Amino acid sequence: MRSRSVRSVRSVRRAVPGAAVVVGLALTAACGTGSAGTVTAGAVSSAPAAASATATPPGPSVTATPSAAPSVAPAAPAPSGTPSASASPKRTTSAPARRTTRWNEPTTFQALPVVRGRALAGMVVVLDPGHQIGNSRHLAKVNRLVDAGNGIRKACNTTGTQTNGGYPESKVAMRIALAAKKRLEAQGAKVVLTRPREDVALWGPCIDARGRVGNGVDADAVVSIHADGAPATARGFHVIRPASVKGWTDDIAKPSKRLAIAVHDALVDAGQRPATYIGSHDGYDVRSDLGTLNWSDQPIVMIELGNMRSARDAAMLTDPTWQDGVAAAAITAGVVDFLG
Ligand SMILES: [Zn+2]
Repeated sequence: MRSRSVRSVRSVRRAVPGAAVVVGLALTAACGTGSAGTVTAGAVSSAPAAASATATPPGPSVTATPSAAPSVAPAAPAPSGTPSASASPKRTTSAPARRTTRWNEPTTFQALPVVRGRALAGMVVVLDPGHQIGNSRHLAKVNRLVDAGNGIRKACNTTGTQTNGGYPESKVAMRIALAAKKRLEAQGAKVVLTRPREDVALWGPCIDARGRVGNGVDADAVVSIHADGAPATARGFHVIRPASVKGWTDDIAKPSKRLAIAVHDALVDAGQRPATYIGSHDGYDVRSDLGTLNWSDQPIVMIELGNMRSARDAAMLTDPTWQDGVAAAAITAGVVDFLG
């Protein structure tokens, strides 16, 4: 089922009278999705020297991650980011995940080549690179409350999080989005970005506007790209899909769930570790409070590709070869699986 079959209630987007909830002005450290902590204004700095700014040409290669960790047997269950939950992975989600516990702790990763084809011919994919590097310079605008849907008001946007070395989440998101755009276009898709580039002079867009971009171009799939800001011991990615909220996301909940599974499994296939510190503890989360998800009338997921505050996750997230050859490649594979 494609998005065209689930848009029948587009017109019912509306505020819920008397149900407004003010979430607050604080800039969330957890990448703006509100899952943990706060960060002070202006915490995001410009990209540090530690982060390479050079693009890596796509192509098959094997690259050692900067944080070479002891190898873990592939069959080992995913340990949690918190010591107390490391005994056994929990399976509390209702998502019919095909693969949730198989992951490799990579000391190397395989950078996948760009695949050319027509799998996405005629399709429109919206990529939403989270935040914007200039948000910290426009706090009054960024902190303005907007309608996040489902009776909730939230800040227009946040600065996002950053690695301990100062590499901003917004840059991770943009680099992966641009790489994924090339890969999706190589499969025939038309790709629309919700913000054009990483630019200190720019801010936003607001979360509600991001969520509506896909509606305006009749997108077949929307992928919002983020990286989390969790405690340093937490690791791994998780895919957030919209809960089914009547009048808001009930029309897109089912296809969004399929998109979430497709992207999740593509990331696992790429050797990525599902986060066990959040949500349903298997790399999935379901939210009804995210404006970007609530405003979408098209199948949509938000991906937290790793934990910026984990040194080992950060080493991957800031590696240009990983950004393209693993993250962007997996996003592309997931979208192809969903739409193909
Ligand atoms: Zn974020």
